[in-house]
Amino acid sequence: MPNSFSIPRLLMNRLRAVMAAEMDTQARLKQVVRLIADTMIADVCSIYRRTTDDRLELIATEGLREDAVHRTFLTLEEGLVGRIAMTAEPLFIQDAPRHPDFSYRPETGEDPYHAFLGVPVLKGGKVIGVLTVQNQTERLYQDDEIDSLQTIAMVLAEIVPAGGGGPEQTGNARAGRPVNLEGRILCAGLGMGRVRLHDPVIPAAKFFAEDAQVEEHRLESAFEELHLSIDRLLAAEIGGLWGEPREVIEAYKLLASDPSWAEKLREGVRGGLSAEASIDRLRREHRARFEKVKDPYLRERLHDLEDLDNRLLRVLAGSDEIATNGESGSDEPEVLVARRLGPAELLDYGKAGLAAIILEEVATSSHAAIVARGMGIPTIGGIDGLLTHVSNGDTVIVDGEEGNVHLRPDDALLRAYETRRTLLGERQAVFQALRSEPTESKDGTPIRLMLNAGLGLDLDHLNSTGAEGIGLFRTEFQFLMSDRLPKVKDQIELYQHVLDGADGRPVYFRTLDLGGDKLLPNLNDAREENPALGWRSIRFALDRPGLFRRQLRALVRAAADRPLSVMFPMVTSAHEFREAKALLISELERSRSRGFTGPSELSVGAMLETPAFAYALEDIAEEVDFVSIGTNDMLQFFHAADRMTPLVSDRYPFVSRPVMRFLKQVRETCARFDIPVSICGEGAGRPLEALCLIGLGYHSLSMPAGGIGPVKRMLRSLDLSKFGPAFASLLQQREPALRNGVLELVRLQGIILDDA
Ligand code: PEP
Ligand code: MG
Repeated sequence: MPNSFSIPRLLMNRLRAVMAAEMDTQARLKQVVRLIADTMIADVCSIYRRTTDDRLELIATEGLREDAVHRTFLTLEEGLVGRIAMTAEPLFIQDAPRHPDFSYRPETGEDPYHAFLGVPVLKGGKVIGVLTVQNQTERLYQDDEIDSLQTIAMVLAEIVPAGGGGPEQTGNARAGRPVNLEGRILCAGLGMGRVRLHDPVIPAAKFFAEDAQVEEHRLESAFEELHLSIDRLLAAEIGGLWGEPREVIEAYKLLASDPSWAEKLREGVRGGLSAEASIDRLRREHRARFEKVKDPYLRERLHDLEDLDNRLLRVLAGSDEIATNGESGSDEPEVLVARRLGPAELLDYGKAGLAAIILEEVATSSHAAIVARGMGIPTIGGIDGLLTHVSNGDTVIVDGEEGNVHLRPDDALLRAYETRRTLLGERQAVFQALRSEPTESKDGTPIRLMLNAGLGLDLDHLNSTGAEGIGLFRTEFQFLMSDRLPKVKDQIELYQHVLDGADGRPVYFRTLDLGGDKLLPNLNDAREENPALGWRSIRFALDRPGLFRRQLRALVRAAADRPLSVMFPMVTSAHEFREAKALLISELERSRSRGFTGPSELSVGAMLETPAFAYALEDIAEEVDFVSIGTNDMLQFFHAADRMTPLVSDRYPFVSRPVMRFLKQVRETCARFDIPVSICGEGAGRPLEALCLIGLGYHSLSMPAGGIGPVKRMLRSLDLSKFGPAFASLLQQREPALRNGVLELVRLQGIILDDA
């Protein structure tokens, strides 16, 4: 998008009037094309919209045959219009019929037109339509005409109806129509509420300013208010993420002071746009660049810029608390809908008002998804084109159990939702009641159920679930959520906070587990053929001893006079364990020699995540204090099936003879060498899997918060003296499939499996 900006004042005034007038969408579109054709002295002006089946439908025209409207459909590969939709770039051509992409459609009667200019109509970073003008003569359109047409396309994005085909859809196509969308579960749970769009939306009627001077004044006041509010944010205490939000806000402060950002916005306003529209224009530019850029660092910067645009829009909208994105004050639960979301932004919303979150982006490991899980907000991601379907205030059901989103649900869906909520509530009440019961099997074998955590926020779950401690604290989250590498001081602060929160209950700190899907810009983001098998976890940490030592120092110092348990991720060989342990001991000695109180007790463990390590255990039996099996990684290596690739990640069952026989062997090795062993992968939190693990003799399981209730319920119904031998004999047989065999035992022995 060019930086200079102009749009003929006459056209602007007339467009403003058309946008403000009461009329249906089809009539409005017709008026818009007529106005554009008139003012730009074009023989044709047409609007195409992208249908849900990815065709381009002619929905309004001035100059082509009227009866072609809603009857002409192009594919995305077809013609100049298709090309614009595919590239999301403007296209201008002096002599269209001679262009290789030209496609002739006799029903439109367009034979004599030569000059062609088209621009994409973009919404939420996606092409939802195309706006074109054509002239009979061969002419070149000027830069300011292209610029004008892009600005008009921006207004059109608000009135071009989304979705299906046919004239009956135009108008209020979106209002009232139920839509079901499928996505990926980022945080399980069920939620319903009114849509709250994260990115402020500007009504089409507010695009053009009546008085440019007044508008410039509004913009300047908004700048001032933005700066003040950022300073207020920096002065305020923002808890929860240790340093990260502060750095994000500091980055905003720098961006907000960038003169070129402000100047671009002023240009738009001087050209006749409203302050909001001028920001929106720039926001679209940032988004369009975002879609194209692959570099993670640049993407973060562009996202920050877009976020700043949004903050400024909120200031203009009069929300006096832009820091908190405004908790709406309404009692109705809200479902936050965003293209993507930063962790700090999510924290800004506060926990209270959000019933659920829906994101266009997909990554389960995205930082917002991690925070959402910490907050326990049902979240679904990976819904392409989401924003073209939703409007502020729509009712939506987020089914984070099945991975579905039901927009504007009908009565039947609403009733089904209520039923499921009631059931869920009843189940939660059962789990709550179990909290004070002993964590042991029906026949009295105590089993330790611990929590997997990674954020300060997760500590809340310690009390709410009654977990016995934190069996896995993923320290890398602090690094992933921060713009800069956390300083030793920040790390100490976090570890102390965790130990304080655990209040004497054990915490197993897992040292930095970066790499694989957990990348840090400029640190370990080199492209690899097989990242899961690559330079990651302890391999990376040992190759970056400076970084690793600082973490070990922080752990040792944070523990001062309290017991400390540290474990190293993805150890593959005895040598790696020894090297890592030596670094830890040397940091301990260093700290002591400098007068720091060391931990009262130190226990050093290793995560068993590679099958190879199972056969190295006996070599380090005297040196390792405990082993924790990370079944998420262990299974992907065991089955050679990438855990991040949906096509294979669930292909091989956990409850299978090969997996169980392997785990049995590990259990026996640990028993032989007197090494305490526990399990900390996600599987430990699923009742059926937990049952089998307990059956194998694993008596310490660490799991996500949501697993504790269901696993404890299963445990309380389990007679281990009966199940253990029956399971052992099942393992020795060849038939039936292990899972079926276990389910049969469950039925016969009255074990309660409540798969959350
Ligand atoms: C695992 O791999 O099982 C594990 C607990 O670690 P993470 O999921 O963090 O890789
Ligand atoms: Mg792992």
